[in-house]
Amino acid sequence: MQIRRLKLCGFKSFVEPAELHIEPGLTGVVGPNGCGKSNLLEAIRWVMGESSAKSMRGGGMDDVIFAGTGTRPPRDFAEVVLQGASTGGEELEVVRRIERGAGSAYRVNGRDVRAKDVALVFADAATGAHSPALVSQGRIAAVIAARPAERRQMLEEAAGIAGLHVRRKDAEQK
Ligand code: ATP
Ligand code: MG
Repeated sequence: MQIRRLKLCGFKSFVEPAELHIEPGLTGVVGPNGCGKSNLLEAIRWVMGESSAKSMRGGGMDDVIFAGTGTRPPRDFAEVVLQGASTGGEELEVVRRIERGAGSAYRVNGRDVRAKDVALVFADAATGAHSPALVSQGRIAAVIAARPAERRQMLEEAAGIAGLHVRRKDAEQK
């Protein structure tokens, strides 16, 4: 899975449409405290289907929408677009959009899909909102303190087999 481009609009502090090109190799994001570095990583996790508002440092999922400042009114939606290539080399575009009070909607390569379809796309690429490759501030301490079951989940995500559990649960419900 290769992320090539990230577009944000109304997501947290990224109130104006912003577009980032990510070149192959190592990318560093630098800037003063509070400039939005963590928000950027959260945008990647969010478009991959993160469902925990708490892990996005909010009380509810609407908190990812630009909340306004002294000089700017709040927005009523947030959208993040992730463009890249899957492990097999196919082009991939995932869009997540949230409207205040109305929840999230997802699109993969232009088609409306469910949250769990997005989770599968990334689980099969051995990545996703809970990928061990995405290390948030404070996460190292959380890994050290993790219970065995949580640690197993991290290993399964790293091994790219997390998608199998989603499919098994699906099959059991049918
Ligand atoms: P540090 O170097 O301290 O880790 P950082 O670059 O990681 O800083 P972030 O945590 O990404 O900074 O950004 C925090 C900023 O984002 C704060 O100024 C906060 O007010 C702003 N912010 C977060 N959510 C929203 C929102 N919904 N609407 C507007 N601004 C927001
Ligand atoms: Mg930070």
